[in-house]
Amino acid sequence: MEEYVFFTKSAEETLKLAKKLSEMVEKSDVLTLEGDLGAGKTTFTKGLASGLGIKKNVNSPTFTIIKEYKGGRLPLYHMDVYRVEDADEDLGFDEYFHGDGITVVEWAHLIEDQLPSDRLDIQIFYVDDSTRKITMTPYGSHYIDICKELRNESISN
Ligand code: ADP
Ligand code: MG
Repeated sequence: MEEYVFFTKSAEETLKLAKKLSEMVEKSDVLTLEGDLGAGKTTFTKGLASGLGIKKNVNSPTFTIIKEYKGGRLPLYHMDVYRVEDADEDLGFDEYFHGDGITVVEWAHLIEDQLPSDRLDIQIFYVDDSTRKITMTPYGSHYIDICKELRNESISN
């Protein structure tokens, strides 16, 4: 699977990249986010939310598993499955994956078998205090198109 690699040199650049992505996503899109604590998963999700026009502040959904944000171009379903104890337990994820909004899943590998096969996997790696390497792996033609467009935009800006 081809990977698309982006480097951001500040939190603002990560927000900007996520905002660009937010303009390309459609209803029922699924994005996964992996990365160590402090890598920038929440920062990335904040960028997605603000790009969708969601006014509410996005924070980590650690204690709730799923948070819904409405009022933007599309609803945003923000999942953090870190506390899911049984990887095969059906907590109704599918309704979100196929819902009217876009779903962002943090720690997605913990529920790997429940994830849709078409999705965009995003990994954020700490490089130094202000630099992150962001790797996107698209599964399915829709997400491949998104990655190509995102790469073209990053080159031209
Ligand atoms: P996570 O949700 O993965 O634990 P957060 O998004 O909460 O991470 O925190 C990332 C921290 O790293 C923030 O304090 C942010 O300001 C800082 N940071 C520094 N450089 C970057 C960058 N290039 N991209 C994203 N965050 C960055
Ligand atoms: Mg976080």
